Amino acid sequence: MRNSLLAFVSALALLIVGVLIINWQLWHLAQSNTVAMAKNSAQTVESMLNEAAAATVTAQRIAQEGCTSQAQLDLGAEAALKPHLRAIMILDQGQIMCTSLPGNGVLIKALTQLPYARLSLLSGARVKDGLPVLLLQTLTPGGRVIVSISDAHVRSALATVAHDVSLSLRVEDRVLAHSGDVVVQENKPARLSALVSLRYPFSIDYPLPPFFSADRLMQQGWGLILLIVFLSMTIGLILRRYLGKSTTYEDDLRKAIEKGEIVPFYQPIVNGETGVIQGVEVLARWKHPKSGFIPPNVFIPIAEKSGLIIPLTKSLMAQVVSHLNPLSSRLPEGFHIGINISARHITSDSFLGDCSHFHQGFEGKRVKLVLEITEREPLLDSPHLIENLNSLHTKGFVIALDDFGTGYSGLSCLHELRIDYIKIDQSFVSRVSGQKDSTMLLDCVIELARKMSLSIVAEGVETLEQLEYLNRNKIALLQGYYFGKPVSYIEFIKVLLSKPRAMKQDFSPQTKHA
Ligand code: C2E
Ligand code: CA
Ligand code: CA
Repeated sequence: MRNSLLAFVSALALLIVGVLIINWQLWHLAQSNTVAMAKNSAQTVESMLNEAAAATVTAQRIAQEGCTSQAQLDLGAEAALKPHLRAIMILDQGQIMCTSLPGNGVLIKALTQLPYARLSLLSGARVKDGLPVLLLQTLTPGGRVIVSISDAHVRSALATVAHDVSLSLRVEDRVLAHSGDVVVQENKPARLSALVSLRYPFSIDYPLPPFFSADRLMQQGWGLILLIVFLSMTIGLILRRYLGKSTTYEDDLRKAIEKGEIVPFYQPIVNGETGVIQGVEVLARWKHPKSGFIPPNVFIPIAEKSGLIIPLTKSLMAQVVSHLNPLSSRLPEGFHIGINISARHITSDSFLGDCSHFHQGFEGKRVKLVLEITEREPLLDSPHLIENLNSLHTKGFVIALDDFGTGYSGLSCLHELRIDYIKIDQSFVSRVSGQKDSTMLLDCVIELARKMSLSIVAEGVETLEQLEYLNRNKIALLQGYYFGKPVSYIEFIKVLLSKPRAMKQDFSPQTKHA
């Protein structure tokens, strides 16, 4: 799940970065395209104005020589032959002296009141045929020459191939766009940029393309986007597969718990004198699909360190209930079911709830649930731990101190913790042999337990000598390979159901073991 999420996030990040890069490139391209279009328009308008400037030279000559019929013809020819010009008008001493139009006609209303400006845009309202014009004026010694350029030519210079880019011609505060009349606009709007002509006093205003545009992306970048979607999906899948393979041991253990691969094995605890089974200890095994059964000392420390010991123990508890509950009527009265509990679990919030759930699984049955707490870890570190165990003791759980004599708690914790019995560690029992003084250490441990009025279970009984020694010392409950190794539920049930009262023979060392 975590790996899939990681792969998904990586693929998504790749997709986002890819789309951003494509968007950035398209934005950059849109910017340079718009500037190029604006430059192109400016050049076209400049070339029209060049035509007007050339016609002005002829008009200046006529202004000096006078408006003869030949001069008027020349002026008409000039206007007609220059493709973008509409009319050429000469003012002298504030009066219309000569024009390119027949009969010295004028195009502009109240021409004599028109103020001088080198370049100006006149709205349709100021022109006789209602169409706006661009005017280039040049001063002469007695007046001025006015050359007009048709709006249609200006508009075609502003036309672009891109439908989302609209250019406009600005002369001072007058603006002519690709469509519409001349409008007054004092300041250029912030969304526009301007390309200023170096030859004539005008600029071409053009819109700045937005940095992000879904339309632009879909129209111009869809091919690349499809490619990036495909690439990020492929990389996501590869990553998921790769991450899925390179899991940590902890991940493997988590999955194993979820899949129910951690199973309980059962080792009998018997009465040494009679060989009658008195209980079992539940011992975890990892039933690995490839490696076979893995012993607990390999994975329990990792489970404890990672906190996985909690779901692991809960899973074992549930399996023990489903295994042993149906057998409870065949078990001797007060049958002990011992389960190993780690300190990390005892101090967790879920511990009391987990145990009472376990207890409910055997509601009304004649079994005793034993919590085996190892002495190898420091027990007194948390007062919470003692409190939780004592409260479970009150509710009927049996508390056993495991690996007695090997660890931290020593004697001090026994005063605070309500312990029912101790389990003498196999390292003490294994020393017992036929040799003199081999029992010295175990003698001391047994004496200590007796003085403290604690019941004893001896672990790791492997030989007849050890059994006889423990019987002589009246250690009633014994556990070890001499009686039986931990076995699977199926093996355990077979022996238990066939001869429940003869464990010593059935769990002899020759029996099939784990
Ligand atoms: P433990 O609680 O002291 O369990 C007894 C260990 O001694 C078991 O080893 C058992 O197989 C082994 N044993 C029993 N009789 C004999 C014998 O006659 N000779 C020898 N040489 N060994 C004997 P196992 O099953 O490998 O477990 C090792 C330890 O792993 C356990 O020691 C316990 O501390 C821990 N463990 C096992 N299952 C769990 C679990 O479910 N939860 C927790 N927290 N710890 C577990
Ligand atoms: Ca134990
Ligand atoms: Ca032990």
